[in-house]
Amino acid sequence: MQKIILTGDRPTGRLHLGHYVGSLKRRVELQNSGAYDKIFIMIADAQALTDNADNPDKIRENIIEVALDYLSCGLDPAKSSLFIQSQIPELTELTCYYMNLVTVSRLQRNPTVKAEIQLRNFETSIPVGFFTYPISQASDITAFRATTVPVGEDQLPMIEQTREIVRKFNSVYGETLVEPEALIPENEICSRLPGTDGKAKMSKSLGNCIYLSDTEEEVKKKVMNMYTDPGHLKVTDPGSLEGNTVFIYLDAFCRDEHFAKYCPDYKNLQEMKDHYQRGGLGDVKVKRFLNAVLEDELAPIRTRRKELEKNIPAVYEILKQGCVAARAEASKTLADVKAAMRINYFEDEELIQSQQERFNQ
Ligand code: ATP
Ligand code: MG
Repeated sequence: MQKIILTGDRPTGRLHLGHYVGSLKRRVELQNSGAYDKIFIMIADAQALTDNADNPDKIRENIIEVALDYLSCGLDPAKSSLFIQSQIPELTELTCYYMNLVTVSRLQRNPTVKAEIQLRNFETSIPVGFFTYPISQASDITAFRATTVPVGEDQLPMIEQTREIVRKFNSVYGETLVEPEALIPENEICSRLPGTDGKAKMSKSLGNCIYLSDTEEEVKKKVMNMYTDPGHLKVTDPGSLEGNTVFIYLDAFCRDEHFAKYCPDYKNLQEMKDHYQRGGLGDVKVKRFLNAVLEDELAPIRTRRKELEKNIPAVYEILKQGCVAARAEASKTLADVKAAMRINYFEDEELIQSQQERFNQ
């Protein structure tokens, strides 16, 4: 069986460090590993519209932002098809058929959807499209026969929902769809990076993000204002690592060589943590170090983005080509699905013949 990746992001804003460690960085590594036969990266505008129906311009404008973030992080259109969800009508058609295989109560049990409904104050008036977006995600994944979906931990219930739909479809209509696997970062922190305010998840909707396209000054300002240990008032006080965002980020981003380069007082993160807990290490020093570590990762991304921004039509052209490749793949799957469901009337010579014979009798 071919190894195929499908993953993506909602164009509701520029991409941030959470996307980067949760999924984007891994995608680039997998792309360059050469171990995958096909890679599809989707800008999920149709999904973004499910909770932004009144603000299509926001989605429209952010498509190019996400595309620039992708390319500047190293996604390569020669190896990965970058495409826009709404341009592949086959996905909507698949969703329509999968809807018959899922119950309302099953959707209501999805913990991610539950949390998102709460976050958006949708409790009393959930748009139907939003409520059913896990089904549309199943279409996105299965349309490309994806075996692997690199995502953050919040997406696990979605992948489980997709797997259930695949099993149900295959048991009712015969083996047709491929059951995907989620690929979650090994480092637990990376699978759900907290926000700069210490809240559980860095998220566009919460406004607690460091964006990949932030300037050097913006990143520095955000790092210097980051949530640490509120009880650590004087440098000499012992500090706590519990919920301390600066150390959580260091866990996600820093490697031993960063110490030699930017903070030779310590050999590794453990030594720095020990000193912080003993007392005598101030937040400002740790934040300056974190800023240097982040810059190490962000500076090359920023430089590539500046280059790409000079030729925006070329970026749209990449997306257009990606859509052509994605559509070719999705339409093959849709044809298989319709054949399995026996709604391929005109392609089925046998059907037409057998109906003729029935009327001849
Ligand atoms: P929105 O608030 O519009 O939902 P978001 O910031 O949650 O935006 P998504 O587009 O929903 O971002 O997520 C895209 C991908 O990035 C998913 O695979 C998701 O798991 C991952 N991701 C998002 N935020 C984080 C985070 N803080 N840590 C790790 N992974 C994340
Ligand atoms: Mg989200």
